[in-house]
Amino acid sequence: MPEAGNPSSAAFPNASTMKILTVIGARPQLVKAAVVSHEIQARQQAGTAVQELIVHTGQHFDKNMSDVFFDEMSIPRPHRMLALGGLSHGAMTGRMIEQIESVLVEERPDWMLVYGDTNSTMAGALAAVKLHIPVAHVEAGLRSWNRAMPEEINRVVTDHVSSLLFAPTDSAVANLKAEGIAGQQVVRTGDVMFDASLFYASKAVNLPLPAGVGNRPFALVTIHRAENTDDPKRLQAIVEALERASRAIHMVFPVHPRTRGALGRLGLLDRLEAIATLLDPVGYLEMVQLEKACTLVVTDSGGVQKEAYFFGKPCVTLRTETEWTELVEIGANVLVAPDDAQSIAQAIADGVQRTVDTSAQLYGDGHAAAHIVDQLLSNLHGSACTNP
Ligand code: UDP
Repeated sequence: MPEAGNPSSAAFPNASTMKILTVIGARPQLVKAAVVSHEIQARQQAGTAVQELIVHTGQHFDKNMSDVFFDEMSIPRPHRMLALGGLSHGAMTGRMIEQIESVLVEERPDWMLVYGDTNSTMAGALAAVKLHIPVAHVEAGLRSWNRAMPEEINRVVTDHVSSLLFAPTDSAVANLKAEGIAGQQVVRTGDVMFDASLFYASKAVNLPLPAGVGNRPFALVTIHRAENTDDPKRLQAIVEALERASRAIHMVFPVHPRTRGALGRLGLLDRLEAIATLLDPVGYLEMVQLEKACTLVVTDSGGVQKEAYFFGKPCVTLRTETEWTELVEIGANVLVAPDDAQSIAQAIADGVQRTVDTSAQLYGDGHAAAHIVDQLLSNLHGSACTNP
């Protein structure tokens, strides 16, 4: 994979150049888009007439949640930076649609490329499809079957307006089929997050662990889902569980801004500080180092569940359902109700002893980004696609 880092600010060279407009906005999308942007740049350097235009919605905008990813992952700088973070779901999504629409009218790309399941994903997809610009969705077909999750709504809507659906797993393909989306527009590409973990783990190999982590065995903790942070009973149960589990293993916890706010309001930060190394959100390279060094992972993140598996670490997920069902089926991941402190503590203590078999290629061959760019290039205007 080539180095990529220069803002691709050059004007689009001529009308026959394929123009891909990518919308990103939240942390996990930066990780996913990084490898695809690198791949597009590699094709450009090899002489293919393709160019990517990146719009960042500003859903996550601060240094720890956005800037650091552009810097250390060599993601091309966005051509347009919107400032649409910190709003309610409706206001955020509505303003995103409006502002992305005006970029689309001006730029008239051949593809709208969106990632995952955030408000930025759905807004990009809706703005494009209404202008008859075909939408390609990376991480299509994921389902938690929990419509109370805002991410689930975003996934379902985006999949149903997309022309090209890049499904990371067999179960994602099956989910789409069950909803009547099948055939040539669904392509099982593997998972771009697997590509990213392979590429950036090799870049991070000599990086030290963040200050304060030390040499002792530790559980890596991340909690940020609104269902957990915005429910005081759940957040209290999670803190209680981590306190109990800290008798079995030390905790290292990069704290998402939303979680830090909620912990502070509930007076729970001091309790956590007494038993855990609390960090600000870390950059992706540091995160990869933590995932490689930890004994197990405790999370409610979608992406971190998979990264635990990529690095062979047992995972305890503080949710009652997951989109990444194959990890539960093979015993790599255990789901625990986030309001059940006793069961969480027990699952963490058990997890310390668990081993993970990573021999099945659940997430593809590590070249998902290349498969995605192949498909975009060979399917101008969302016309017929072929499965690889
Ligand atoms: N991540 C990171 N630093 C952190 C926490 C997470 O780089 O402090 C990365 C993580 O490795 C994964 C992505 O952010 O690649 C996951 O994002 P998040 O958990 O916010 O979203 P989700 O995957 O749940 O949508």
